[in-house]
Amino acid sequence: MALLVQKYGGSSVGTLEKIRNVANRVCVEREKGTGLVVVVSAMQGETDRLLNLVQQITQRPGEREVDALVSTGEQVSAALLAITLESMGVPARSMSGAQMRIQTDGHFSRARIKHVDQDAFKTALDAGEVVVATGFQGVDSAGNVTTLGRGGSDTSAVALAAALNADECEIYTDVLGVFTADPRICPQAAKLDEICFEEMMEMASQGSKVLQIRSVELAMNHNVPIRVRSTFSEDRGTLVHNEDDALERLVVRGISHNMNEVKFTMYGLPHGKGAATKIFSALAEAQINVDVIVQNAPRENHIDLSFTLDQSDRYKAEDVLKPVLETLKSHSLEIDEKIGKVSIVGVGMRSHAGVAAAMFETLYAQKIDILMISTSEIKVTCVLAKDDIEKAVGALHQAFELA
Ligand code: ADP
Ligand code: ASP
Ligand code: MG
Repeated sequence: MALLVQKYGGSSVGTLEKIRNVANRVCVEREKGTGLVVVVSAMQGETDRLLNLVQQITQRPGEREVDALVSTGEQVSAALLAITLESMGVPARSMSGAQMRIQTDGHFSRARIKHVDQDAFKTALDAGEVVVATGFQGVDSAGNVTTLGRGGSDTSAVALAAALNADECEIYTDVLGVFTADPRICPQAAKLDEICFEEMMEMASQGSKVLQIRSVELAMNHNVPIRVRSTFSEDRGTLVHNEDDALERLVVRGISHNMNEVKFTMYGLPHGKGAATKIFSALAEAQINVDVIVQNAPRENHIDLSFTLDQSDRYKAEDVLKPVLETLKSHSLEIDEKIGKVSIVGVGMRSHAGVAAAMFETLYAQKIDILMISTSEIKVTCVLAKDDIEKAVGALHQAFELA
């Protein structure tokens, strides 16, 4: 029997009416005789609402309890969808991360999936039930509930598709597929029919949150093609799959932006005293991901160091850095929240010169100052003032003729 994993995001299950719409889609597939594992996110806004409740209590909550709390959002939507399906005469069974035995490491709020137990699904699938799986959650070896990072239901879906050897993994969302830029801020953005894993991974890591980065990483490692499509349309969406040579011809495939980072700058750090090692080791030990890094050349035996990280790690990073900066006898930590990041992405960059120059020229022509630059083989990223991001995305989209 063919097996399909479908994932429905928060906007697709935001109301009871939308849940009924999802149930209808599930019924159509089931009538074809397909086995179905349906992964759901929390109802739209629910995860934010729960996190906001925590913020009202403290800025530095215990991570175990935060995961225990936010994982409940997915349990509500999974049970509601299962109830809806059953009310339509379709046998269904909701399953939480613990019931599915989705084993993760113990890093709360950013756990990685280590193992998925296929047997947990067998009884339900053999009985012809639709499995309605909670996205975003698992359990660690001590039995604690863990969550997989914001947008983590995508990763749950790909992990289940890989573990169950599903024929396809469909990610249903509120846009028609993957676009050349975020259609929310770039109305000229065009839907792509396909994109290769590498480009999608870079776009996701640079802020195109239509797919969580780890879901793409996992899909690439297990060669699980993903189809991103809309819950509210019959469009075939975008196929994210292995690299196709024809795609190489396009230099820039898409533009990503991210307005959720903050910039940390430390002035006058001692040169030659292992400052960078001490700072980044401390952040790594706390599982804090650092993004763009710039260090200037030493002047009078001192250096300035800047890096960006996700806003959600801001307070944790401050706490971690405080003692390190004290030992380095540096007390000038500046935190800038008014920054954003824009990136151009494309595997064709490997074989084309002058792409970065064209990007800088475009920004210069718009009178946009570049604060930091970082590059990889297939992307160029510029950190800019937050207020410039939207304008930059539009100008770059036009300059690289993506419409
Ligand atoms: P879901 O709740 O279904 O998981 P998300 O909000 O996580 O949905 O992801 C869908 C959103 O991703 C879209 O509404 C869109 O604004 C945003 N997005 C950002 N970049 C892109 C892109 N390149 N293509 C499509 N959508 C994008
Ligand atoms: N509900 C979680 C979030 O809002 C996970 C997800 O939607 O994928 O981040
Ligand atoms: Mg999402």
